[in-house]
Amino acid sequence: MFNDLTRWCKDIGQYATDRPINDISDEITKEVLVEGSCIHRSSYCDKTCFNIKLYKLYPNMLKRDIRIEKAWQALTPENIHENIANFFQRKRKQIKRIRFNTRGESLKDIADIYRVKAMCTAMPDTEWWLPTRAWSDPIMKVLIEQELMPVSNLALNASTDPSTTQEEWEILNRDGWNIMFYGDDELNHDPATGEYMFQCPKTKKGMKGHCEICKGGCFSQVTTGKRRTVKLYQH
Ligand code: SF4
Repeated sequence: MFNDLTRWCKDIGQYATDRPINDISDEITKEVLVEGSCIHRSSYCDKTCFNIKLYKLYPNMLKRDIRIEKAWQALTPENIHENIANFFQRKRKQIKRIRFNTRGESLKDIADIYRVKAMCTAMPDTEWWLPTRAWSDPIMKVLIEQELMPVSNLALNASTDPSTTQEEWEILNRDGWNIMFYGDDELNHDPATGEYMFQCPKTKKGMKGHCEICKGGCFSQVTTGKRRTVKLYQH
């Protein structure tokens, strides 16, 4: 179940999950085999998502995404609690940090909120990293704030980009979200607070694997108890 979902991601020095971005259909019958997860994506995502290029270069990604999404949909809070810790404890590489979704959206719908919560509570010694666009759905935002923000080992981040409006910046700050910003290397200050953004060392200085030990950025709330706005540099 978890074998299909996770892979070691050298770039960030941790295991990570993935999900399909768009619906995947049978080439001949056109039947939808699995649904995509990025339903909260922004207009900027549509213009710049590098995963769309990767799908063209590596067609096997689609086959893996079908397996992943089927495995993800089979997850319930109960079977997560029964199995996930045993699965990861057999791994040889570090499990102090694990990232949700290097591609796709972890929090597509309400059931996902409880899947994520179950993973975090089943492995309380792991710091789970979750960037999401689900904050842009008002119902999902309220539920995430209620169910996931209090989870102390979850590094929850609102993913933002140049399409994020001033009002959205203000709401995210007001409601205590850690924020990851990507898409404009010239923007140095949080548009709502004026705070100087934390400069991501991995994308600024090319420090591959640094996410495994990074303290002040995406993991700030977990490591220091303080929210930050983080700027990721374009590659
Ligand atoms: S701020 Fe830290 S954790 Fe976030 S992407 Fe950059 S290096 Fe990784």
